[in-house]
Amino acid sequence: MSHSAQTERIEGMTDASGGLGPVVAVDIGATTTRVALVHVAGPAAEVRARERFPTEAARGFEDFAGRLDALVRSVAAGASPVAVGVCTAGPVDPATGEYRFPPNLPGWHGRSLRPGLEASLGLPVAVGHDATVAALAETRFGHRRGARDLVYLTVSTGIGAGIVSGGRAVTGHAGGAGEAGHLIVNPGGAACGAGCPGCLEGAASGAALAAEAARRIEAGDRTALVRGARAEDVVRAAEQGDPLADAIMREAIGHLGAGIASLLALLDPEAVIVGGGVARGLEPRWAEVLEAVEARALPRYRGGAPVEPTTLGDDASLLGAAVIALEAARGAHA
Ligand SMILES: [Zn+2]
Repeated sequence: MSHSAQTERIEGMTDASGGLGPVVAVDIGATTTRVALVHVAGPAAEVRARERFPTEAARGFEDFAGRLDALVRSVAAGASPVAVGVCTAGPVDPATGEYRFPPNLPGWHGRSLRPGLEASLGLPVAVGHDATVAALAETRFGHRRGARDLVYLTVSTGIGAGIVSGGRAVTGHAGGAGEAGHLIVNPGGAACGAGCPGCLEGAASGAALAAEAARRIEAGDRTALVRGARAEDVVRAAEQGDPLADAIMREAIGHLGAGIASLLALLDPEAVIVGGGVARGLEPRWAEVLEAVEARALPRYRGGAPVEPTTLGDDASLLGAAVIALEAARGAHA
């Protein structure tokens, strides 16, 4: 694992880092974990080094913690970071860093990466939920920077939301807020992996697209282009005009519209920013997404629902990890 040489600048308004040095940002996903050195300076964030490795959560928490520690030390070497920010698939309690029955990190319940990393590096370590910190990053670096009320919705293998309300991240009683994937949008419909029937994740996630394609092909629906029945196969086939894939996408977009309309009604955000792998596949169909939202939202949203694709690409969570790291560094220096 060698350091990549690339340096990227993400322009945006942000609080000055107050003369603090760079931070190490960690983004733990169900499949891949990413580590980078991020320097936030005035209006920009610089991602100076990027590393990644397969999470392989089933190898156990201790095994993962050891691999992460080694990589964080390697990224930090010679850079004098002032803090580490870890964002992760959750649920996770931001106060303690403890996992709360994380469905995609089996066996990690009750464990926290924070004490081990703090002891090993001698630096403050902040932990946050990936979607929550992505919402924070949007308010600092995204095209809605400065927003005090914003929702970041990630539509990927699963679906989750990060909520910023009145300028503060909403984390809930034990870190479980923002589980927008389990809003009921399709009563009686398919269940998600966690087992709630009719939820948004069961209806519009990458996993739902794949499951629906498999179901229809098994039921004898003919299709020219949906071969692998993975979410990306469905998205690609729909782009190429396959009617079955298109029907699956259209249905999923309708359910997504219902979920987003509910979020607008509940939280009155300045905007709902949508990111994640499936969301990228939706960008060519954005007018259809807006139509699906507006058809189900309160009248004031008709003809202008503030629902937009992210401009931060895959980096929203990683930049959010840098934001909470800087907050931790400031706290330690206060
Ligand atoms: Zn669910």
